Amino acid sequence: MFNSLSDRLTATFKNLRGKGRLTEADVDGTVREIRRALLDADVAVPVVREFTAHVKERALSEEVSQALNPGQQVVKIVNDELVRILGGETRRINLAKNPPTVIMLAGLQGAGKTTLAGKLAKWLKGQGHTPLLVACDLQRPNAVKQLQVNGERAGVPVYAPHPGVSSEFEAPTGDPVVVARNGVSEARQKQHDIVIVDTAGRLGVDADMMQQAADIRAAINPHEVLFVIDAMIGQDAVNTAQAFNDGVNFTGVVLSKLDGDARGGAALSVASITGKPVMFASTGENLDDFEVFHPDRMASRILDMGDILTLIEQAEKSWDKDEAERMAKKFVDQEDFTLEDFLAQMQQIRKMGSLKKMLTMMPGAQVSRQQLEQFDERQIDRIEAIVRSMTPHERRVPKIINGSRRARIAKGSGVHVSEVNSMLERFTEAQKMMKRMASGGGMPGMPGGRA
Ligand code: GDP
Repeated sequence: MFNSLSDRLTATFKNLRGKGRLTEADVDGTVREIRRALLDADVAVPVVREFTAHVKERALSEEVSQALNPGQQVVKIVNDELVRILGGETRRINLAKNPPTVIMLAGLQGAGKTTLAGKLAKWLKGQGHTPLLVACDLQRPNAVKQLQVNGERAGVPVYAPHPGVSSEFEAPTGDPVVVARNGVSEARQKQHDIVIVDTAGRLGVDADMMQQAADIRAAINPHEVLFVIDAMIGQDAVNTAQAFNDGVNFTGVVLSKLDGDARGGAALSVASITGKPVMFASTGENLDDFEVFHPDRMASRILDMGDILTLIEQAEKSWDKDEAERMAKKFVDQEDFTLEDFLAQMQQIRKMGSLKKMLTMMPGAQVSRQQLEQFDERQIDRIEAIVRSMTPHERRVPKIINGSRRARIAKGSGVHVSEVNSMLERFTEAQKMMKRMASGGGMPGMPGGRA
């Protein structure tokens, strides 16, 4: 998402960087390029118009003419404007003073509501809340079942309508307004502090659906109404968002499928058009593919200034603390770094989620996007297979792995001997580096080291 927009904008700024003064022609040219890039990314026309007008006005002002580095200053202005159209400050969930906090989800069918319900529940649970999911999508066959599956994965209970489902192709019957109301009562009774109500969508905006959503809203009086929108739907996003804003007066936006390769303009337009902030982003089919949306970080990501904070948060979320402590202790005790440790490290890295996704958040990663595409996470699988084909003694004392052992290991793990060789080379490098660090030399190229 945003890759081509990002490439276009950074290319535009290249021409500006390092210029001592900007002429009006420089500014005009830059603004024209920005306008084209935004339109090509499917950003809604009124949003583009306002965006470029602001950038132009500020780029011609003293703010830029007196800046030490005018080109850099223009990049900063574009960054500010991106943050602004994405909704400004990070907006947190509005928690009720008297629980339960009621959160209602609305959006078209297929937008990703049911998936999001599971993600949100899991995330809230991780923060110490005790959410209850309520299944009010009685339109789409299988939606209740899907929510139950997500609830189970998230370890969060699901309140569902009682009338049975005769087949998986048939939606359960019942009145979603009643189910929603009963779900909230259930939460109150069982002392859940948050209720997440999943509602039905249709393939397109439709009066009946909107009425139903509005009725549910009126019945449960939610603290937040989150409008979930598929970021891949392009220009249609604006009309859909406006219709839902009029119909249910949502309080925040969730952008789903931000992992896709659509041009991302929808994402950039919705907050600006509706005046409602983007609160969360959904970035994949797994329950952990979910982020709090920070307009400033997203803008930095688009402008290729990297998004280190999100990267660190993701790493913390998936890092295995016990394993990290075990490794640290080994380090302090100056024990040998073995192949088992090497494998454990690789597995930690993989646990941090898709490496590709993580790498795209790093500053400067754009430069090597092609390399990223070529990066193959299956390499880690192969390393694992190779290490697993070794005897415990070989893993602890890799020195003993001679030619015939290498051949045996290659055969056992189904790889070529050259792969065993290169894996052992990488291991030796890693081992050397660990030794250097343990003896206080520090990481190569980094100041300081262990005291
Ligand atoms: P609903 O009809 O709004 O409840 O939509 P669902 O939650 O059933 O999602 C529709 C489809 O989109 C499902 O196949 C989901 O797995 C998929 N999906 C949902 N969120 C994401 C996301 O963030 N990224 C990707 N790639 N797929 C998603």
